[in-house]
Amino acid sequence: MKQSLDCSSLQLTTTQRALSEAKTVCQQRGVRLTELRRRVLEIIWNHSSPLGAYAILDVLRNDGRQGAPPTVYRALDFLMEQGFIHRLASLNVFTGCRQPGTHHSGQFLICRDCGQVDELSNLTVDAALRAEAMARDFEVSAQTVEVLGRCLMCRNEASHHAN
Ligand SMILES: [Zn+2]
Ligand SMILES: [Zn+2]
Repeated sequence: MKQSLDCSSLQLTTTQRALSEAKTVCQQRGVRLTELRRRVLEIIWNHSSPLGAYAILDVLRNDGRQGAPPTVYRALDFLMEQGFIHRLASLNVFTGCRQPGTHHSGQFLICRDCGQVDELSNLTVDAALRAEAMARDFEVSAQTVEVLGRCLMCRNEASHHAN
């Protein structure tokens, strides 16, 4: 059987996997993945690039929910606390975590053109930053690394158009 590899089915599988992982982690921790929290996580994973809070709110309103910004922010806070999503401060958007349930701060390659994000988890980078901070007697509360640039696809497209 030939496996279908079109984008939408691939996306769906990833979303479903993320949702079931989140459900399991919540059960293990004894916290509640409410319907709203689950839906917010689903919206983030369904979208190919990271979303801002207001874009998420728009989708919720399309669902027919009476969403107010604080409700969305509380759901986002919960998802961040549990490590299911990361906030990318440079763009003020949220992206699904590729390794939920593990404690990590995350390093991200962010494409400025298409908004595509690649999450890395390089332990050497993590340890090096931690050591540098410690050497300067600096107490770290968040150690997210955001690298801005252009992905291969966008660069190819740009050079294609230039020809
Ligand atoms: Zn992550
Ligand atoms: Zn790109």
